[in-house]
Amino acid sequence: MDFDPQKNYYEILGVSEDATTEEIKKAFKKAAIQHHPDKKWGDKEKFQAVNEAHGILSDESKRQQYDAYRKGGFGGFGWGAGGFGGFGGADFGGFSAGWFDIGDLMGGLFGWGGGRRRQVGGEDIQVRLTIDFAESYHGVKKTIKYTRKIFDDKAKKETCPTCQGRGVINQQAQTPFGVMQVQNACPDCDGIGEIYTRDSKRIGNGGLIDSTETLEVEIPIGIKDDVFLKYGGMGHMGPGGQHPGDLYIKIAIKDMGSYTREGDDLYLKQEISLFDAVLGGKLTIDHPEGKLTISIPKGTQPHEKIKISGRGFGRKGLLSHRGDLYIIPRITIPKKLSKDQERLWKELQQQG
Ligand SMILES: [Zn+2]
Repeated sequence: MDFDPQKNYYEILGVSEDATTEEIKKAFKKAAIQHHPDKKWGDKEKFQAVNEAHGILSDESKRQQYDAYRKGGFGGFGWGAGGFGGFGGADFGGFSAGWFDIGDLMGGLFGWGGGRRRQVGGEDIQVRLTIDFAESYHGVKKTIKYTRKIFDDKAKKETCPTCQGRGVINQQAQTPFGVMQVQNACPDCDGIGEIYTRDSKRIGNGGLIDSTETLEVEIPIGIKDDVFLKYGGMGHMGPGGQHPGDLYIKIAIKDMGSYTREGDDLYLKQEISLFDAVLGGKLTIDHPEGKLTISIPKGTQPHEKIKISGRGFGRKGLLSHRGDLYIIPRITIPKKLSKDQERLWKELQQQG
């Protein structure tokens, strides 16, 4: 996922949520000039934020994913909201920026001199969720179960006795520059600075145990196939329960039948009799909203689409703004005619 659903890109660019591509482009230009780091009053952070917002909102499919995620109310599951032991939302940025890999000799020689604990983040989890065509059309709530690693609440955290919680130990090392004092990751706690015990016995695995989680997933109206919904901080926890990864739910839509989707529009290949194509007629089709009766215009040509307005997918998770439905007719020519029919056709042939 390219975007961070917890950021309000519309607010960053100062445009409304239904802004057109043109409006977004204009707002981006203005904001980019205003915050450009080369300007006297420029602001590098704001400039980057504006760039990120533009990158998502100017790309239609990214914008749709981003909107779908936000409309579904998934933003509520961010850092801090789920009560993960005091990891505030603000920690996230600093935490990724502060990520470092210990145990690298050069890093030990020239890097952070004071000694820092290693931060180990939990892994992300990916769960696949299959829904059917009608559910993707109307939106749906689904309950899923998944397994994640959490910190055992019967476990205790203790300061690592080997490194006194520093995460690093000082060692002599032979280097190309001679014997030097280097800092290496503490082998006892793997650089984390703490150890975990249960019933006074040392336990491994970062004190983590498997936990089965139940989650109600609200799938927004008009969601697309292969889209990910991100639940920040709901992946596996890291050692000691720190820095949980994210949960990604990958949506798969099955049973589209003869329908295909393009943007928010629906396409249906449909057989139409020659008589209905020539004379006009009625046709009943299966649609996620139920049976739909549509009119076939007189003189419909092969592959000439019949447009039914407002029967496509909801835009940006709303059924009030919808794409259209197009019927692509396949006109069937009768192979066998009764004697009476043949006589009528011959009459037509002679007249024509
Ligand atoms: Zn240690």
